[in-house]
Amino acid sequence: MIKRIGIDIGGHTVSAGELLSDGGSPLPAALATVSTPQERDMTSLLSVVRDQVLQRVPRGSRCFVGVGVPGFVNRERSVILRLTNFRGCDGIPAALMISEDLRSHGVYADVRMENDANCAALGEHICGTARGMKDFVVMTLGTGIGAGLVANGRLIPGAHGMAGECGHLAVCSEDLYHSCMCGGAGHLEEAASAGWLEKKALENGLPADFRAIWEMRRQNDAAKAITEESLNAVARGISSICVTLDPEAVILSGGMSRAAGIAEELRARVMKYLPLPMRSVFKLLLSELGSSAAVAGAAALDDSL
Ligand SMILES: [Zn+2]
Repeated sequence: MIKRIGIDIGGHTVSAGELLSDGGSPLPAALATVSTPQERDMTSLLSVVRDQVLQRVPRGSRCFVGVGVPGFVNRERSVILRLTNFRGCDGIPAALMISEDLRSHGVYADVRMENDANCAALGEHICGTARGMKDFVVMTLGTGIGAGLVANGRLIPGAHGMAGECGHLAVCSEDLYHSCMCGGAGHLEEAASAGWLEKKALENGLPADFRAIWEMRRQNDAAKAITEESLNAVARGISSICVTLDPEAVILSGGMSRAAGIAEELRARVMKYLPLPMRSVFKLLLSELGSSAAVAGAAALDDSL
């Protein structure tokens, strides 16, 4: 059996691992995390993927490489349409470029690409919180905000491959109008992500660190106001997703989801927005796998939902 490598490209870190079958339950193994190259361009992405693959696969052999990217990819999962936090990657046939780059280094890889939140949803379904679920949403809360949507046991790609880009739900009113890096405006990601929280913190003389802002929110009025705005926007996003899909559960993943008490804070706020019949069945859960979910999902892209 050929090795199956999963690589999750994040705004701050790149995680990689190999999918192993442990008595029938696939688990990501030898998970490694390195910093995302500062250049954040295609050349550095090729380099970081190559490094991770060559550490695990001997030259001259075949493997499968699944790559999760934080942005829009086309329906065929071959071309990056928009990576908001990277430069010069839009319109690039990245799967083919990665495959050719690896071949030039002696590794014959079948490469598939997928949105990172979709990878996280696949990973949670294979070996995490969503095991056994047919209708669920994994929402990634980090530098950016994304979601993977699974309905009736199938990942929803959408007509153009862009379904589930929930960081770009237009949840902000005109007085909180933000320009989003995607080119749109009023979007959740620009009003609630860790990236936004850290930017607002700097403007208010606070440390540009999400965990620090979160810990300060009960003692510091500015930290409280910033976190409140973020939580309310995320809650509006979750409520809108629930009304659209009626999932069995919404599973929170990503760096922000690991802040103590965030699920409870969000649950109370989502209730306010949900229609009455949905409140008794609403389930907000935390990822069991953390950052390894997207790695597991990426490595399983050759056999996905
Ligand atoms: Zn946007």
